[in-house]
Amino acid sequence: MARYTGPVCRLCRREGLKLYLKGDKCFTDKCPVSKRNFPPGQHGQSRKKVTEYGMQLREKQKVKRFYGISESQMAKYFNMADTSQGITGENLLHLLETRLDNAVYRLGFASSRAEARQLVTHGHFTVNGNNTDIPSHHVTEGDIIAVKEKSKSSEKIKDIIENHNGTQVPWVDVDLENLKGNIVAEPTRDDIDIPVEEHLIVELYSK
Ligand code: SF4
Repeated sequence: MARYTGPVCRLCRREGLKLYLKGDKCFTDKCPVSKRNFPPGQHGQSRKKVTEYGMQLREKQKVKRFYGISESQMAKYFNMADTSQGITGENLLHLLETRLDNAVYRLGFASSRAEARQLVTHGHFTVNGNNTDIPSHHVTEGDIIAVKEKSKSSEKIKDIIENHNGTQVPWVDVDLENLKGNIVAEPTRDDIDIPVEEHLIVELYSK
């Protein structure tokens, strides 16, 4: 299925929570979720009985949109999570959280995951000294993500660093002076701040 290209704030309103898809705007009063926290569209404010399937679907959509991945990628991640040791739901979130684009966002080198994905695709980062332009590349404890030497003078990167306001998760450590970050631990479930009941996603895919 093609990637959604419509207004992203509608996605947050559909899920009824902030998915932080718009960078700085998400932290201002202009955020539509703060102003109109009901689903978009003509019937957005009408009450509907939500079925069990509906609840499972919403949780899956919430996670998919939070990380900005496609339907087929989500299904692939679920298969990987399901065939790994441990709790499937937590495995799934761990796989998504350790994507390179998410790590770049968590390090504060981008104002949204979409921007992080674009910066990675445009080749602005290295992982352990190697050029890496694949947003789905998985990072692991001990990895060092750095802004490429020639990208340090880019206006975009300079702007991001100027507005950097620290990292919010304990599994990454940023070195702003040298424009690099370290993965200091594997993210745990508690580090993943999306309010989701991942067991509902597991139930959906297990049907
Ligand atoms: Fe979502 Fe950000 Fe738009 Fe608010 S401003 S609705 S958090 S994308």
